[in-house]
Amino acid sequence: MAIDRERIKELIEREAQRLDGRTQGSRAMYERARRSLSGGVASSYQVRHPWPLYLSHGKGARVWDVDGNEMLDFHNGFGSMVQGHAHTAITDAVNARIELGTHFAAPTEDAVVVSEELARRWGLPKWRYVNSGSEATMDAIRIARGLTGRDTVVKIAGSYHGHHDGVMVAIGSVPAELGDREDYQSIPYGAGIPHAVSELTIAVPFNDAGAMERRIERLVDEGRPPACVIMEAAMMNLGVVLPEPGYLEAVRELTRKHGIVLIFDEVKTGLCIAAGGATERFGVVPDMVTLAKALGGGLPSGAIGGTEEVFSVVEDGSVYQVGTYNGNPLSMAAARANLLEVLTPEAYAHLDALNDHILRGCQDVIDRYGFPGYSIGVGSKGCVTFSPEPIVDYESFKAHQDAELADLAWLYNMNRGVFMTPGREEEWTLSVTHSFEDCDAFVAAFDEMAADLTA
Ligand code: PLP
Repeated sequence: MAIDRERIKELIEREAQRLDGRTQGSRAMYERARRSLSGGVASSYQVRHPWPLYLSHGKGARVWDVDGNEMLDFHNGFGSMVQGHAHTAITDAVNARIELGTHFAAPTEDAVVVSEELARRWGLPKWRYVNSGSEATMDAIRIARGLTGRDTVVKIAGSYHGHHDGVMVAIGSVPAELGDREDYQSIPYGAGIPHAVSELTIAVPFNDAGAMERRIERLVDEGRPPACVIMEAAMMNLGVVLPEPGYLEAVRELTRKHGIVLIFDEVKTGLCIAAGGATERFGVVPDMVTLAKALGGGLPSGAIGGTEEVFSVVEDGSVYQVGTYNGNPLSMAAARANLLEVLTPEAYAHLDALNDHILRGCQDVIDRYGFPGYSIGVGSKGCVTFSPEPIVDYESFKAHQDAELADLAWLYNMNRGVFMTPGREEEWTLSVTHSFEDCDAFVAAFDEMAADLTA
């Protein structure tokens, strides 16, 4: 199918106008909010032009905006609400905890239970808590540096690991700026990041263990061997990009060979693609994992897991892993209920079946219309990748993703009762409360877009 670019633009305009018309309450809220709340939002990832959508509440697989529009939620709080909204197991646990005091900065039994369960799921013996994914990756890197006595961090080009200086590097840049894939530049993401910090972070391409090995060997020769490789085992910030067979095993082998701490950032994959995240799903065990998002059932939370060796530097006091709200009783009560009562083996079987269903439905639309793209996913996560070529890394994503189609698909969803993750790099997250019919609604919106594009 040859896509008519003018038709895409026409439909984008039509759908954007339609969305504006349905969200006048959000518009009014934005006019009020922007006077005191910078940009009208709590985080720049919530910015949307001409105005963001303000939500009022959610229940199960549904959310409502301030205009009263009811939508099936496939955004799920950037992949946090795999339990669905206001799940009774979690609200009961939180309500019970509120009556008992919400914060002491002293550990509670729930924190112990959660770490026992995470150790069982990941096969990593030791755990600590934080309050977000960014805190988890920041502390994990510090622990790796403390253990190895080295400064350099290796990451994957295009991967997002949170908003601290050391990882806001080599993302959101065009490939030409990054330079040769054997020697990517350490470009900071946005202003305010000191070059002295970004230069310590070296990016390499995903799905290319050879390129990673050559760069690591050069770093060793230059006298700056890496402390860690931090990576997602399956990339979740370029849509979904799965590891090619043998890639993770090769990374495991070469990090071990060079005494480098391997960190799987499972902020998105953890608890969402299997009980034990990407580590279980792909069968390669890192030295450390970072969790957040889906851990706390919608309360701010994060965790770092690791081997005895890794945590020895925390336990002997040489690395400070600290924080007033770490292991907050409310978050821990929610996490305990989430892990023990909601994200059960049956829940994961349901998520897998739902994802097969929605992926098949989307692929069927692609095949029927001869659309340039493919559906791809794992566990509760998936997307339609609008690209005639398979996306295997950041360069292929930048070269081939049809960003306008991605924008149009988002507008189609929003106008048809499907609340979808904003951004051209995002994917859906299903929740245990989604049904097969809910997934059919997503596919129907996509079908309508394909039909309109070909009309
Ligand atoms: N790591 C990954 C893989 C992420 O996708 C994100 C957020 O999207 C983070 C870390 C940062 O998490 P947070 O936004 O909770 O700081």
